[in-house]
Parts: sequence; structure tokens; C-alpha cells
Amino acid sequence: MANVDYKGAIWRPSPNHEARTAPISFVILHGTWMADDEAALNRLSDASAKVSCHYMICADGRIIQLVREEQTAWHAGISAWGSIERLNPHSIGIEISNPGPASGVAYSDTQYAVLEALLTDILARNHLTPAQVLGHSDIAPDRKDDPGAHFDWARLEALNLAAPWRPYPTIDDPLAALRHHGYRGADKDILAAFQLRHLPTHVSGTLCPLTRARILGHERA
Ligand SMILES: [Zn+2]
Repeated sequence: MANVDYKGAIWRPSPNHEARTAPISFVILHGTWMADDEAALNRLSDASAKVSCHYMICADGRIIQLVREEQTAWHAGISAWGSIERLNPHSIGIEISNPGPASGVAYSDTQYAVLEALLTDILARNHLTPAQVLGHSDIAPDRKDDPGAHFDWARLEALNLAAPWRPYPTIDDPLAALRHHGYRGADKDILAAFQLRHLPTHVSGTLCPLTRARILGHERA
């Protein structure tokens, strides 16, 4: 289709976008936390909601493109990673349909399969590395928890589509390590963000012994 950047996508344009003012440096993954696909697509296309994304992966695996990659979509909001604040102009946003962690509904194998194909294409076309694929919770740890502890980051890591946590041998303060990595925010918020992604069975926002060991790489000592 002429209007899409990914050949497998269906074009359903959203008015919620603006000119891109920075190079694409990140892909941000989201969970919709909406009851169903139509509700999410309607909100992402509602001019009064002022939110959007580039792609949404539906429950049945269809990929909808709402904003062209050359335009900025409005998915990240107030956010920061490393020295960059407000990631919208710097990123491509992918929403994955899911009613949220409290629902008990898992992301499906079909959704992971199409996400993997889409990410492979996006990373190649935009010359991005796995470390540039982040979750909304990584970049807005004080207010966002999507794609959630039930999102299988390890599956993406195994395919080199996201980066596993690697300890910094010269940093022995866990919070300094998180901030060196890119996390920005209060201690409890960035600990929770780390746990959501790298220790999803222990999401507490506290520096429990296992979290400390995981951050510092001391688990197998
Ligand atoms: Zn989000």
C-alpha cells in the first residue's frame, strides 16, 4: 500500500502528528490498556485526545499504521532517556493491543510474531540497534507501566530485537548504574521500571537483594 512504511501494515491515518524535528533514535513499545482494538484505534485517531502512534498491533495480529515514520506521533509524552527529553520527535511508537496487567490477558504468540517481523524491518530501515528499543515504562517511569511485567522482553532479546541488561563492572552503586544506563527519575520509579523489564516477578520499586544482584551482575557469585 502506497501510504505505509511497512508492507504488512494497513493504513488508517490519525490526525495526531506533526513534523519530525529530530533523527529517529528509538523505538518505543506500548500496551494499549484498552478494552479492544476499536476503542484503542478510535482514541489514537481522536483529534481531541491528542495521542497517536506509528503502528498498532491488533489482538488478531493485524498491523495498523496511523502515522508515517517521517512524521512525529504523540505516544511518549513527558519522557526522558539519557540526555534526551521528550522522545516523540526522536522515536517510532508501537502500540500492542492488550487490556492491561489486571485483565490477566497475555500478549499472544501471533502478536509477538508480527511485532518481531515489524521490529526487524524498522531497525534495518532506520539503522537502529537492539539497545534503542525501549518500553514506555523505561522512559516515563513515574507515570507509565506499559508494556507491563507480562510483556516478554526476553523473547525479543533472544532475537536481538531488544538488549538484555548488562551490568557495568566499574559501577557498584545500583542506582548509579541505572542512571548511567539511561533511566531518569526518582529512585523508586527507576527501580520499578528496571524490574518491569528485567525482573518482572519482583516489581516493588525497592532495592531488594535480588534486584541489587541483578543490576550489579552478582547473581552467580
Ligand atoms: Zn504507552
